Amino acid sequence: MRKHMLFIIVLCIFTSVSIAQKPDKLSSNQIYEKVQKLNFLGSALYIAAHPDDENTRLIAYLSNNVKARTAYLSLTRGDGGQNLIGPEIREQLGVIRTQELLAARGVDGGQQLFTRANDFGYSKHPDETLAIWNKDEVLSDVVWAIRKFKPDVIINRFDHRTPGRTHGHHTTSAMLSMEAFDLAGDKTAYASQLSDYDAWQPTRLFFNTSWWFYGSRKKFEEADKSKMLNFDIGVYYPLKGLSNNELASIASSQHLCQGFGRLSTRGSQEEYVEFLKGDFPEDKSNIFSGIDTSWNRVKGGKAIGNILTNIEANFNFVNPAAHLPKLMEAYGMIQNIEDEHWKAIKLVEIENIIQACAGLYIEASAASSSATPRANVQVNIEALNRSNANIKLNSITSIIDKKTTTKTLSLLANKKENFTLDVNLATNDYSAPYWLYEKGTLGMYKVEEQQLRGLPETPRPAVLKFNLEIEGEAITITKPVIYRYSKPDKGELYQPFEILPEVTAKFKDPVIIFSDNKPKEIPVTIKAGKDNLDGYVTINHPYSWQVYPKKLKLVIAQKGDEATLTFTVIPPATQSEGTLIPEVFIGDKKHTLSLNEIEYDHIPKQSVLLPSETKVVRLDIQKSGQYIGYIQGAGDAIPESLQQIGYDVTVIDPASIDAATLKDFDAIVIGIRAYNTVDELKFKQKYILDYVKNGGNVIVQYNTNRRLKVGAGELAPYKLSLSRDRVTDETATVEIIAKDHSIVNFPNKIEAKDFDGWVQERGLYFPNDWGAEFTPILSMNDKNETPKTGSLLVAKYGKGNYIYTGLSFFRELPAGVPGAYKLFSNMISVGKTQVIKQPQLKN
Ligand SMILES: [Zn+2]
Repeated sequence: MRKHMLFIIVLCIFTSVSIAQKPDKLSSNQIYEKVQKLNFLGSALYIAAHPDDENTRLIAYLSNNVKARTAYLSLTRGDGGQNLIGPEIREQLGVIRTQELLAARGVDGGQQLFTRANDFGYSKHPDETLAIWNKDEVLSDVVWAIRKFKPDVIINRFDHRTPGRTHGHHTTSAMLSMEAFDLAGDKTAYASQLSDYDAWQPTRLFFNTSWWFYGSRKKFEEADKSKMLNFDIGVYYPLKGLSNNELASIASSQHLCQGFGRLSTRGSQEEYVEFLKGDFPEDKSNIFSGIDTSWNRVKGGKAIGNILTNIEANFNFVNPAAHLPKLMEAYGMIQNIEDEHWKAIKLVEIENIIQACAGLYIEASAASSSATPRANVQVNIEALNRSNANIKLNSITSIIDKKTTTKTLSLLANKKENFTLDVNLATNDYSAPYWLYEKGTLGMYKVEEQQLRGLPETPRPAVLKFNLEIEGEAITITKPVIYRYSKPDKGELYQPFEILPEVTAKFKDPVIIFSDNKPKEIPVTIKAGKDNLDGYVTINHPYSWQVYPKKLKLVIAQKGDEATLTFTVIPPATQSEGTLIPEVFIGDKKHTLSLNEIEYDHIPKQSVLLPSETKVVRLDIQKSGQYIGYIQGAGDAIPESLQQIGYDVTVIDPASIDAATLKDFDAIVIGIRAYNTVDELKFKQKYILDYVKNGGNVIVQYNTNRRLKVGAGELAPYKLSLSRDRVTDETATVEIIAKDHSIVNFPNKIEAKDFDGWVQERGLYFPNDWGAEFTPILSMNDKNETPKTGSLLVAKYGKGNYIYTGLSFFRELPAGVPGAYKLFSNMISVGKTQVIKQPQLKN
């Protein structure tokens, strides 16, 4: 795939990490800091597993105090977590977290790298992690990252020696780093990578230890520190007016979808790294000890270093443009060094400095935020020299259509030049996140193109190179095409300029449940990516399902407009699962992608393309009870799922709960972590338990035992102790231990096969101790663990029933898992005898 993309990618390696966002507008202080970094030739790579694992204090310190090139390699994009700020989960959450990491690096000055590993959910042990990830592929990506970034020093966040102590992904990240440290320098390992990047042997490897890994501060004080380096990372940066820790807090507070917004701290703080392998450093306060991090490191670098260290020592904060002649001289010399690695890095750095010193503002903006492949786009150019330097624009090269436009223009002091340029988007590729185009496996993203692997984002396809002369010396400044606009309530905004399909299609729901034979009307929303869209839509469906009509005509006049077409879907008579895919035909081209737009204030707008589909499930299910009251906790989609199978669900405002509010419901279901997140429950618990006593049926989903809003002993009518017991293997065998209990017999008979097809995990935070009044229903366990019987507990209380379950219904029902629906229906039905009659339709 994408032969010509290579060309663009190679180019993007030489451009800076932050692409297509707000342009940098550097103050003298910031320019000076960039000059300091220009004079440091040393690199550190920090390795962990997830967005938020990274120690932003250490990354900020290395990048801003040591001045090192610093990168964070997060093996995953954090797709498996929860989203505290919006509805996106899985792949789309991974896109948000990718951008939050980039935002964090924008603050702490680091760069961001990834592997193809997918965060599939919690894992207790590296053995499980590596059974789901493809070890060879992830290891190959870590080796690739090392060969490409060429760190002198690698720092692991986690300890490779303690499997089982923390998340399996964590320990695995450290174990793979240990292996990759040796393999990156070995020319026989992953030899196909060597056509792009040379083998590279980092000098040393550390583990970023702390008291936490020792269990207590006291134990850490007593630990042998002969192999540890430590340094004070609480430094103050007068140029920024910030302490390193304040900078680090701002960086980690970018992880908003994880609720990481936090207070900043100041003052002295020791950081420890434990030496693992490589050359032991002589100076135990400097991780780069013994490594030449000056310009002398590269052949021909000494003369460059002489010029640049002189600029640093005599920096003119009032008129940085005074340095332009010397900077241009150094720029010319850097172009001639043989070391391709440092040449590429330092050219980008010095280009940015030269631009900033000249107050040179160059912007390339499109009139709209997106266009289709092969479209012609008019790009508005603004070019402005805000210094007295002698600057000429000679030509502009558009990379995507390989077109150079001659333009002889002297950029006079503070005289703005505006003109337009026609760019043809000469590509068949889209600009959406590259790792989501193709379906991967549970543990791995599928990315065929080696050059794309590890990149945080898809390289911007529309890029212009401005060929200039500054003080008589040639220089090229690279700018991606962006989209700039304003909103009355937000001010000026920048967006990436996207190349998107001419049409995309999307079902409203990712899963549609049919609890009987009745046909359903299923809407498909079609969005036009260009004007005058004319074609038709069909639905690809499994053989046993029927869809009418066979095709529907589609006409949309305006780009950006949507049309909703409705198809009738008839399920088969018996239990069945399948996938519906909308296929939009425009001319002879078939389109099957959906466009998912993600907009938050703290990250650039994301346009995500995913294979468009919806899962359809025909359930063979019986129900007893109809009216459900739902008390939301931390947020889950159980109410929508129960509505899909025909229950009447009322979401209850916790503040309104009293004896009268609850009494008419057939069951009250309490959302995940409600007792951790809903303050009112402290005062309303008595009404909930009274409702049970008077004959009601309460189903409580998982809570964590820390920070419960109700007092000890008040969660349930009887003794119930929550624990951290969980079963993370979603295929773990489930044994029904209370075979005669109505909850596994009425109205649906629950059998072993009802635990097939579960996703991500069985359940979490199971109680591990309970009163004799409770009946444990199920037993299950992860490999090499003792059976856990607390996943589903039922107790009679007064005339009603109290049910506590840590089973992950909040994942299984939205995923359309038939057995989970049956079991949930049975939980609602406990204490009832009357089955609701299903309408029997023939099809
Ligand atoms: Zn983590």
